Amino acid sequence: RTVPTSVLESWATRCASAPDRVAVSYFDQEFTVTESDRLADGIASALEADGVGPGDLVGIALQNVPQFVWSILALWKLRASVLLINPMYQDAELDHLLEDSGAVGVIADFDSTPHLRRSCERRGIKWWHTSVTVLAQQEGATDPEDLLTRARDGKARRTNRALPTPDSCALLTYTSGTTGPPKGAINTHAGVVTAATSFARIAVVDDTDVVLAMAPMFHITGAVINAMLAITTGAQLVMIGRFDPETAIGEIRRREVSFSVAAITAYLALANQPTASPADFRTIRAFYSGGAPVSPATAERLEAATGHYIHNVYGMTETTSAVIAVPLGSRAPVDPMTGVLSVGKAMDSVDAHVIDDQHQRLAPGVQGELVLSGPSVVPGYWKNADATEGAFVDGALRTGDGAVIDRHGWVFLVDRLKDQINTSGYKVWPREVEEVLLAFDGVREAAVVGAPDDYRGERVVAYVVADPGATPTDAQMQAFARERLAAYKVPREIHTVASLPTTASGKVQRRRLRSSSVWDLSPTTPRN
Ligand code: ATP
Ligand code: MG
Repeated sequence: RTVPTSVLESWATRCASAPDRVAVSYFDQEFTVTESDRLADGIASALEADGVGPGDLVGIALQNVPQFVWSILALWKLRASVLLINPMYQDAELDHLLEDSGAVGVIADFDSTPHLRRSCERRGIKWWHTSVTVLAQQEGATDPEDLLTRARDGKARRTNRALPTPDSCALLTYTSGTTGPPKGAINTHAGVVTAATSFARIAVVDDTDVVLAMAPMFHITGAVINAMLAITTGAQLVMIGRFDPETAIGEIRRREVSFSVAAITAYLALANQPTASPADFRTIRAFYSGGAPVSPATAERLEAATGHYIHNVYGMTETTSAVIAVPLGSRAPVDPMTGVLSVGKAMDSVDAHVIDDQHQRLAPGVQGELVLSGPSVVPGYWKNADATEGAFVDGALRTGDGAVIDRHGWVFLVDRLKDQINTSGYKVWPREVEEVLLAFDGVREAAVVGAPDDYRGERVVAYVVADPGATPTDAQMQAFARERLAAYKVPREIHTVASLPTTASGKVQRRRLRSSSVWDLSPTTPRN
């Protein structure tokens, strides 16, 4: 199979073959492939006039707006690299990112990020603004300094620019930092296009699809298997700014959305909308959920609420998003030992296997650490040789995830190796305990961590979020768990909390739960 060397190569094909089709929509506005390409050229010219060129790194700190897509294409056309920045980051987080990456400037939304401008000014680097409201205004009535206005007004230079090389950095993406300080993963051009196109094959996405960008594009999932999935397949990309469940349902109906990939928390938010019903999701062909575990109980509840089976997809920042997914039309099996749903099968561009402590490959059905290789696995971390060296074994990426692969190739994630609890010498996988708590009527979310214990080393502690109106008691939940788990796995303490701390990508931050002084533990009186 010949893999294109970059998304720009697929995009050029699309510009030639389907110039008038809608590439991106944003509420009432639609932009064709040609219009989008002209705007990307315009942005490239404006940035070039300000000194951006090959090898430069430029940050983008935007919510999901069309300018995000055009700016990425523009920077790639200049053979510059993109630093993805969460626009909600505060000063210290921004300073770390800008310092560590050495970005020469940042593209941000004028209205929402004054602190970003200050961060850039402190470092003496460039700052370009683009206002999301500009899109809604009449042409000509916009701020002349706005990047998009400059792109529209300026003389876009459409010289034949050389394509970026396959192994150069397309996206510099900082890991979300659930296990340590964020590190910059180098997502190459070959990696991005490989991940997007091989995910399109397993999920069967093509140019008849309408993809709703529900995952944030400043995260690898949103950038690669929302935006670049649409760009490489010719699907229409529906953008709605920052995710909001009511807006999302409105646009699913209006734009006849057929496909999405997002964190499970986003789907729960859709299903929990008071007026939501399967009729809202009539045009959906497939839902995919990635980045965080989905319990069988949650999957069932979502299927009842939306009428759609939630396909799982597994990926990491270091694998340029998707590497393992449930093939469209299949249903993931549940592991009889742990009760977890499979995350899917390795995509055709990926080699996945499980190893033991001595780095030996394990047989099907035996639990160990999941390791991955293939073109979408990053070559390493940005300016961090030590971290890079520690991340690979015999050329394969160590995921830090405990996993089992069965005889048919289904991958089951047992847990993150670092999250394993050691209580009196017994190993407890939090996932297994969480699955049991989630099966208890009235429990909506659950997270299990180890807390320091003078006697046992660690003790099992659970945090649960109750369904509205439900009041599960600790004693009831513990009795339920005792019937289903060995005694040492039963949580010694169960705290009912209003919500669990999560990252922007929808992952529970177990680190914060472990240091409970940081996380507000005040028990909640369930609301009706
Ligand atoms: P850091 O490594 O900086 O602490 P992170 O690992 O949370 O951050 P990501 O790269 O976004 O940042 O997340 C990758 C991890 O997310 C995987 O290693 C795995 O533990 C988890 N994960 C991804 N997809 C799934 C899934 N479908 N089911 C369960 N867990 C998943
Ligand atoms: Mg990680």
